[in-house]
Amino acid sequence: MTPSNNLKPAKPLSALQGIILAKCPRCRRGDIYSTPTYSFGGQKMHERCSHCGLVYEREPGYWYVAMFVSYAFNVAEMVTAAVATHILTGSNSPWVYVGVLMTVVFLLAPFNYRYSRVILLYWLTPGLNYEAWRGEDRNKVVLKEPNPPAH
Ligand SMILES: [Zn+2]
Repeated sequence: MTPSNNLKPAKPLSALQGIILAKCPRCRRGDIYSTPTYSFGGQKMHERCSHCGLVYEREPGYWYVAMFVSYAFNVAEMVTAAVATHILTGSNSPWVYVGVLMTVVFLLAPFNYRYSRVILLYWLTPGLNYEAWRGEDRNKVVLKEPNPPAH
């Protein structure tokens, strides 16, 4: 990155980009996770956004709600995998379906874990919205907006 690029404001991410990249839902700059989706040793989350300071765990027990999102993901993936297995193999053996579905659930578990929490933060948390001014570079925020909008 050249020095002149540092002076330009970062191009804001769309909500979809923010979800895919697992960025903070409020500023879309800081990372939610400190590890990639698939890594040995599991996924680790940042406690708060490195850019705007948002605490990701909104209240005690907040992540339990992500289990319901993860459950919906699992149902959709298993139905899709079962229909695809039927179309591709035409098999009537239950063991074919058990094998395929167990494999799908196992392989997609890290994905479901990660994105159930991201979806919870982006779409299912009242009062947590994207605030474009928080995504601006810190120095610019201080210079342009000494009094951030109150909530
Ligand atoms: Zn943030």
